[in-house]
Amino acid sequence: MIDGCGRIIDHLRLSLTDRCNLACRYCAPDQGATLRGRLDLDVDLAYAIVQWLTTRHGIRYVRLTGGEPLLHPHLIQLVARLSRLDELHELTLTTNGQALAQRAAALRTAGLDRVNVSLDTLDPQRFAHVTRGGHVQRTLVGIEAAVAAGLTPVRINVVVQRGLNDHELADIAAWGLARGCTVRFLEVMPIGPLAHVMDQHLVGATEILARLSERFQLRPISASAGQPAVDYAATGDDLRGVVGIIAPTTRPFCAQCRRLRVTARGQLVSCLHDDRRYDLRRWWNGHELDYAGADTTLRAALAEKPAAGVAAQPACMRSLGG
Ligand code: SAM
Repeated sequence: MIDGCGRIIDHLRLSLTDRCNLACRYCAPDQGATLRGRLDLDVDLAYAIVQWLTTRHGIRYVRLTGGEPLLHPHLIQLVARLSRLDELHELTLTTNGQALAQRAAALRTAGLDRVNVSLDTLDPQRFAHVTRGGHVQRTLVGIEAAVAAGLTPVRINVVVQRGLNDHELADIAAWGLARGCTVRFLEVMPIGPLAHVMDQHLVGATEILARLSERFQLRPISASAGQPAVDYAATGDDLRGVVGIIAPTTRPFCAQCRRLRVTARGQLVSCLHDDRRYDLRRWWNGHELDYAGADTTLRAALAEKPAAGVAAQPACMRSLGG
């Protein structure tokens, strides 16, 4: 699949639900809004979309996300079906980890390859504050359960926010490396509630690297296609492993973007910074996806995928499929 700018598209982020059991301050406008978002993607439609995109359009990497995908009532069944698609090279899932300890083994058995787990701080109070009520211990135990279940390498995603966790980056890296995880640090993006105040919170890649370099020796590793992170082999503190930085703001990677998103409403989103949605549900009769119709919708989304995502995005990641 090639978009209007000549980029190969082979990665899909599929949002299974708008719902989340957390309401991170940079993601969800407020707790109430999170609870009001109560939309789960129909499990048969989810499967049909991935089947269509893998068999006809060259999607090879699928990441299940949300909202919080572990809240989807038919997640394990969906993973089991998707993992049997021959064309799929990798099936992964992004989670806040609050319910991962109970699900990790079943997800692995169902055929999930890996998980990414969001963890912005190790401090219980700070975690409860940023997530509006989450329990850090649950996520830490969830990560350890994912490692034990073989959902590896587990990737820990840290959204770096000035004044919140920017002094903690090396500690989080050390915690993850000690458990064999890859730890990735993300610049906060102008998306959702932080769209207008991002500059106060943004810690750029150069500064993130400097903070990590105080504790670790870092050697760049060459990136694989479709991978926005710049990864480093890290050694220090008697630890070794991989840390990475994803810098959409200070080092945008739009020219290498290989992604499409599908929201929990069954709409294609071609770029995180673009407000346009392309409805796939209109081609779904409850049993079958009309491939010819869906192809026309896909062609429009591909043709209009922006060369670069520059606009602030008022919708939050939870509804876009982060
Ligand atoms: N609930 C799952 C989770 O917490 O990982 C999946 C959905 S969440 C929207 C996906 C990722 O988006 C998380 O790692 C979250 O930290 C990130 N995210 C949300 N809003 C963001 C923003 N404004 N800038 C950077 N990352 C953001």
